[in-house]
Amino acid sequence: MSNSHTTRRDFMRATGVSLAAATLGSSVAAAEQGGPNQPPPARTFGYAVVGIGSLAEGSILPAFANTQRSRLMGLVSGDMAKARETGAQYGVPERGLYTYDTFDRIADNPDIHAVYIVLPNNLHAEYTIRAHKAGKHVLVEKPMANTVADCEAMIAAATAAGKQLLVGYRLRYEPFTQAMIRMAREKEFGETRAIVAEAGFNIGNPAQWRLQKATAGGGSMMDIGIYAVNAARYLSGEEPVEVNATESTDKNDPRFKEVEDTIHFHMKFPSGVIASCLSSYGVGLNRARVHAQRGSFEMEPFWSSNNLRLRVMRGNVVEQRYLPQRDHFALMMDHLAQAGTNNTAPLTDGIDGRNDMKVIEAVYESVRTGRPVRIA
Ligand code: NDP
Repeated sequence: MSNSHTTRRDFMRATGVSLAAATLGSSVAAAEQGGPNQPPPARTFGYAVVGIGSLAEGSILPAFANTQRSRLMGLVSGDMAKARETGAQYGVPERGLYTYDTFDRIADNPDIHAVYIVLPNNLHAEYTIRAHKAGKHVLVEKPMANTVADCEAMIAAATAAGKQLLVGYRLRYEPFTQAMIRMAREKEFGETRAIVAEAGFNIGNPAQWRLQKATAGGGSMMDIGIYAVNAARYLSGEEPVEVNATESTDKNDPRFKEVEDTIHFHMKFPSGVIASCLSSYGVGLNRARVHAQRGSFEMEPFWSSNNLRLRVMRGNVVEQRYLPQRDHFALMMDHLAQAGTNNTAPLTDGIDGRNDMKVIEAVYESVRTGRPVRIA
């Protein structure tokens, strides 16, 4: 867990409102532990992680050290030698190791309650559906799938299996994002007037799957712009009714032969709130801001998996709010463990993932037609 002593000290220095927000963080922790006077829950909810790539190796597998309810009991990989080596490192039993060909046998493994899919985007739908057919809960990385139709098929598979489906929007489980949402919903600064959400990074190697349309489903929108879409939806608390988008891509850049670089898009919400958003594979962008009647509040960075920051601005006064830095992946995995055990819908369910894809499909249509696109 990344709660440093410095952060705790900063946390105690915080203002009254910040402490209220911080209490939210500690109540999240207390709830995860089964309540303030309850013993911690047992780590009995077993996961199999599918695809041992950079996110799995760098963030997800290490996160099991920070979970309260979840444990790593399986690995699925195209490379059995890597699976064995990684399995040995994390104490995964030999019976929990699978290839993509033997994946369906996971149905017979009672140690594994859920499958965490960390594959390239075009494989999310297939492995979610196979995992549900095998009787497992599913945590699938964002974007949920490459099309709305695939998202619908995944939701149907979860319903048919009577299992929970969680889309990997890790930010919804950590204290900074939760504080932003609470500030907006409780109207700490009055009604929200506008939202700005910008997400991007400068992508490297032109040969990677993220730059191949068939695999990634698209360019920056699918991979990073989706954070801006999701933020606009969770900060407004509404579903958008219209999208208007413009693209800027240098087609001579070898990275962008198949997919887009930068898209500037606006989402219009039923209340009248407009979100102004940027998605880019060319520049670093990492900011989500809410402009309300009596002030603004923002996170920068907002989509990173650590070192998040929250500031509020009232006129010329700028105040930093201090909250605990938590392990997003551990919190999210424990949330599915709880949802799966109690048979309740997770916070970021298939509908949430599908609704982002509806916006992204509308963004692409608006770019293509040069017109605003209504979202049904
Ligand atoms: P990587 O390419 O690093 O890893 C993907 C893994 O999938 C590979 O290592 C491989 O594992 C497996 N795989 C199976 N089939 C293929 C194939 N045809 N081509 C390539 N890999 C294949 O990707 P990332 O880990 O960066 O991303 C995986 C997913 O996680 C994506 O959907 C991405 O959007 C999401 N992501 C989410 C983040 C977040 O913060 N929530 C951050 C980064 C990524 P093996 O060799 O074991 O079979």
